[in-house]
Amino acid sequence: MGHNSERLFAEARRLIPGGVNSPVRAWRAVGGNPVFLQRGRASTVTDVDGNSYIDYVGSWGPLILGHAHSDVLRAVHEALRDGTSFGAPTAREVELARMIVEAFPAIESVRLVNSGTEAVMSAVRLARAYTGRTKIIKFAGCYHGHSDGLLVRAGSGALTHGVPDSPGIPPAIARETLVAEYNDLASVERCAKVAGGDLAAILVEPVAGNMGVVPPAPGFLQGLARIAAQHQALLIFDEVITGFRLCYGGAQTLYGIRPDLTCLGKIIGGGLPVGAFGGRREIMAQLAPEGPVYQAGTLSGNPLSVAAGIATLRALRQPRVYERLEELSAALEEGLRQALVKAGVCGCVNRAGSMLTLFFGTESVQSARDVGRCDTGQYGRFFRGMIERGVYFPPAQFEAAFVSLAHSEGDLEITVAAAAQCLAVLAS
Ligand code: PLP
Repeated sequence: MGHNSERLFAEARRLIPGGVNSPVRAWRAVGGNPVFLQRGRASTVTDVDGNSYIDYVGSWGPLILGHAHSDVLRAVHEALRDGTSFGAPTAREVELARMIVEAFPAIESVRLVNSGTEAVMSAVRLARAYTGRTKIIKFAGCYHGHSDGLLVRAGSGALTHGVPDSPGIPPAIARETLVAEYNDLASVERCAKVAGGDLAAILVEPVAGNMGVVPPAPGFLQGLARIAAQHQALLIFDEVITGFRLCYGGAQTLYGIRPDLTCLGKIIGGGLPVGAFGGRREIMAQLAPEGPVYQAGTLSGNPLSVAAGIATLRALRQPRVYERLEELSAALEEGLRQALVKAGVCGCVNRAGSMLTLFFGTESVQSARDVGRCDTGQYGRFFRGMIERGVYFPPAQFEAAFVSLAHSEGDLEITVAAAAQCLAVLAS
């Protein structure tokens, strides 16, 4: 870590808990202290000591066009000239809503909020109100933001009533969450049985990104739709990462499933704070002021976020965009896989479109159970080796790396060469 980052981190730790405004930024999962970033352009970020890195974090997903894309900057500048916030309806909100509704088969009506956390929290409230039930099934290893009822993972068995992941969550709230195993429909059936007639919704990341990338097994998402329908519960897709990432229209388009509710965030704000949830008109009509379910926000639909989102989605509507992302991402996957084999290091690469994770210590990861077998120490050493070589991978094993349209074949070559060197060191 350079001198300026070191100085800033020391001061930050005095003023901000752990020195960061979101825990993963502190690099505790990989060791060492974080670099402070000053600037991003295209595929590259530069820290306050002048070191540059090829970036695969992309602000944790929003920056599918890369950093400081000219269309996004222009759109934000234009919106900025008109003012930063009104707390009143604006034309741009309608435009972004139209783009989302047109893109997502299962969204007829959509509400904008400020973060993914808020989107999922509100969708769950709506599902409970609509069904008149309280229990939610979520999956071990899936993250849906930090609202109380969702900050819950499996206890010792898949059927365990939720145990809070954090102090401060009332056990009574955690008990409303049942935790099933991703890619294991039998565990979902068991949870649904435990919920009895009180199952409001099944909530899932259609491609898991928050235990590292874990794609759905064939038939898994269809099975969830079937189980939800059997129990007259709603199916909620959390597409905060996957929406506009896997294709224009998200995982539901790719896998041909129509969830009742969909949560979005990240890309639809082009790097500014945003979230959204939407779905069937009949369900969404329960929201205030049309219906009784309360949900609101001072900065919701913020003009700058919405302008950045519209510019990003317009760029993503151009021809061959997702094909290009696929080419780049497949090449990175292949390069990393070959580097693993060549170095003789045990690991695997999971990928869905432009999201990817290099797991250490295991040859297959399909659920949170498998994730538990990973060698996080190895990942930490890999991460630190990559940073030294100018490549910024996610500072935690259980996260997705994101390829953007700003990455070039040259970036990938440098990345794969750096990975090969790091892996050779790990093997020695
Ligand atoms: N849902 C998913 C799938 C996420 O990956 C995240 C954040 O990473 C969230 C929800 C929460 O979004 P936010 O961090 O914007 O609150």
